[in-house]
Amino acid sequence: MLGANDGIVSTASLIVGVAASDAGRSSVLIAGVAALFAGAMSMAAGEYVSVSSQLDTEKADLAREKSELEQQPDAEREELVRIYQARGVERETAASVADQMMAHDALAAHARDELGMSEATSARPLQAAMTSALTFTAGAAAPLAVVPLAPASMLVPVVAIVSLACLAVLGALGARAGGAPLGPSILRVGFWGALAMAVTAGIGSLFGTVVG
Ligand SMILES: [Zn+2]
Repeated sequence: MLGANDGIVSTASLIVGVAASDAGRSSVLIAGVAALFAGAMSMAAGEYVSVSSQLDTEKADLAREKSELEQQPDAEREELVRIYQARGVERETAASVADQMMAHDALAAHARDELGMSEATSARPLQAAMTSALTFTAGAAAPLAVVPLAPASMLVPVVAIVSLACLAVLGALGARAGGAPLGPSILRVGFWGALAMAVTAGIGSLFGTVVG
C-alpha cells in the first residue's frame, strides 16, 4: 500500500514537473518510464538493505541471548522473573512462570519477552524487496498510463486529477482495512500528493522558462 502511494506521488510529480516545463509528450513519457523503473529499483534496494540489516540484528541478538543462557542461566532466569513482575505478576508466580517457560523453551521465552521478537517479525529481505518494487510499479503505472491518452494541453491537470483520485481510493482502502474513519485518511494522502505535484509543477515551469 505504501509502495503504491510512493509510486503515484513520485511518478505523477515528475510527469507534472516535466510537462509544466513545456516538454513534448514523448519527453514526458520517457521521463515517466525512467521514473517508474528508477523508483521501483530504489524501493527494492532500500527495502532489501533495511530488512537484511534488521535480520542481521535479530540473529546477533539471538546468538548473544543463547550464549548468555548457557553461561549464566541464573541471571537469565532472574531477568525473566523481573520482566513478569514488571508486568504486574507477584514474585512467586513470576518465578514459577519463568521456570516453566525456561523448561519449555528458554531461548524462545527470552526472544519473546525480553527482546520483543515474535515469529511474525522474522523478515525475508528478497520477498520484501519484490513486494516494494511491485507495489511501487502498480502505483507509478496509473499516472504514466494517462500521458499517452490525455490531450497535450491538458496533460498537467489530467495527470494531477487521475493521481489524486487514485491516492484517494488507496487512502480509503487503507483506512477501511485499518478500521479508521475514511475522511482524514483521504484528506491526508490527497494533501501530500497535491503538495508534491504543485511543488514540482512550479519548479518545472520555472526551469522551463529559465532554461528553455
Ligand atoms: Zn535474557
